[in-house]
Amino acid sequence: MPGETILVVEDEPSVARGLEYGLKAEGFIVLVAGSGAQAIDLARGGPRKAAPHLMLLDIRLPDMSGFDVCRVLREEGRALPILMVTARDEEVDKVLGLELGADDYIVKPFSFRELLSRVHAALRRAYGDLASTSGAERLSFGDVAVDLQRMRVERGGHPVMLTPTEYRLLRHFVTHAEQVFSRDSLLEIVWGYDSSVDSQRTVDVHVRHLREKLEQDPAAPRWLLTVRGTGYVFTQKPE
Ligand code: CA
Repeated sequence: MPGETILVVEDEPSVARGLEYGLKAEGFIVLVAGSGAQAIDLARGGPRKAAPHLMLLDIRLPDMSGFDVCRVLREEGRALPILMVTARDEEVDKVLGLELGADDYIVKPFSFRELLSRVHAALRRAYGDLASTSGAERLSFGDVAVDLQRMRVERGGHPVMLTPTEYRLLRHFVTHAEQVFSRDSLLEIVWGYDSSVDSQRTVDVHVRHLREKLEQDPAAPRWLLTVRGTGYVFTQKPE
């Protein structure tokens, strides 16, 4: 999607320059931040500067961690897709384990081609064809209402903040009620790429987040059920 703005948050100048060069060559507008504070400032946008469409966020920054940057922006209600760049596998556990609201992650060292495919997939999830395809405009279950035209979710009449990926996953479930989906197929449909063992945990984490935001008792879900050995199903059948 050329013309979209990507914010590269990276304190290593040579890495930042390489990413900037590569992404510009693909037609993106690129902003670079070398610190967490600068990243937050640029992500907020303002009267004279447009907010970026996606953030590539290095975890190790001089002033604060990428985890904190992500948390601050999500707490402010900013829903831009965030792709965490991790240096080591141990950090992946942290990305997946924390309630950060990151959409995806990539482990250093990565190929530019791999990064680009993650960027495109995240942009598609966030800004791609999100309009209703089921014919329904509004669906509800329990005290949750999903407005498929306006892409809004309410619970008990109050807005629920979902990240673009969480929304896309929820939309897929509610428009395909009673159908069981494997983690592999969810990755392909919702994330837009082929599965790997590690990425399957990404599905589990996002399902957990949806349950925490939408279920009365996230530990004993009523709507978004695990099908042992298979995957997940959204059900509206009476208990
Ligand atoms: Ca760094």
